[in-house]
Amino acid sequence: FDPFEGSYVATDYDCSAPARLEPSRKANATILFLARNSDLQGVVTSLKQMEDRFNKRFRYPYTFLNDKPFSDKFKQTIVDLTDAPVEFGLIPPEDWNQPGWIDENKAAANRKEMQEKEIVYAAYRASSRLLVPIMARDIFSYRNMCRFNSGFFYRHSLMQKYRYYWRVEPDVIFYCDLGYDPFLYMQDNEKVYGFNIVLPDYIETIASLWNVTKQFIAEYPEVAARNNSMDFISDDGGETYNLCHFWSNFEIADADFWRSEAYSKYFTTLDAYGGFYYERWGDAPVHSIAASLFLPRDKLHFFNDIGYRHHPLEHCPIGELHKQGKCWCKEEENFDYHWYSCMPKFERMLQS
Ligand code: GDP
Ligand code: MN
Repeated sequence: FDPFEGSYVATDYDCSAPARLEPSRKANATILFLARNSDLQGVVTSLKQMEDRFNKRFRYPYTFLNDKPFSDKFKQTIVDLTDAPVEFGLIPPEDWNQPGWIDENKAAANRKEMQEKEIVYAAYRASSRLLVPIMARDIFSYRNMCRFNSGFFYRHSLMQKYRYYWRVEPDVIFYCDLGYDPFLYMQDNEKVYGFNIVLPDYIETIASLWNVTKQFIAEYPEVAARNNSMDFISDDGGETYNLCHFWSNFEIADADFWRSEAYSKYFTTLDAYGGFYYERWGDAPVHSIAASLFLPRDKLHFFNDIGYRHHPLEHCPIGELHKQGKCWCKEEENFDYHWYSCMPKFERMLQS
């Protein structure tokens, strides 16, 4: 397949002309950023790389979502960086804020407890080069963000028209040239969830997520797919969660999966339990458990050829793939086979 079929021939002194035409075949897809106005410089860093490594040739539309209106400066800076269409959307407050039925006293008690614990984590994490240092972040909005990314982004009015999305965060690095269209790859191979890095989560943030999940599956056994990836996320056949998850700051996925009846029911159950506020459930374990249990394992795709860094971890393609993508990361920094990576479990699961 040649995405540049029907090629436009630029004269070699005409540097302003597009070197090539937009590919003739594209997927129904968008590149999605959730961001605050204050994230602008980090967004610019990510977007410029997205353009250079991939999208200036493919021109997929960008979608920006925010719980506050984007500033004119934010919008203008973004629009000036790309020839692709860009849309900016406001998240309705009811899709963002803590719902009224959450017991605020209970939520506040947990925030306090977590805050105290996170001090311990900070010390522990600082001792390891690889673990995330806890920043003094807005503990309220982080929970809203996790809930929004779990259950709302794919229902936003700007997102409804799209099937596939690539989630991008501020301040990430893309190391390799991408010579093909990953959305079409997903579509043509009937893939549903694409990921790049896998690691275990912190049990303290999701203490009861697995129990709630088990109860959900007991109530709706039909949601569990045959040939699912239970062996990736559980070492004992589903009794306990081994905490492995797809690091969801990178996702290339089919949003129709989140819109499906199985996932909708799952999200509603989790949300009713209140774990996004009584604990600090992340969208990463929520997405990962759903993708692992409600999908056959061949619907998952490891984007091994996409060199990617979100502090403090990176996936750096090795060997042939490194050369093929002209990647500029260091192969020895690749996280896949680090002791903390869940990649060996994922590979063992695929081989079993
Ligand atoms: P981390 O990767 O877990 O450290 O979390 P980030 O701070 O990177 O946040 C995850 C994503 O949500 C990023 O794309 C942020 O820009 C976005 N985000 C986080 N908090 C907010 C918020 O309060 N409002 C908006 N609009 N976006 C947020
Ligand atoms: Mn981030």
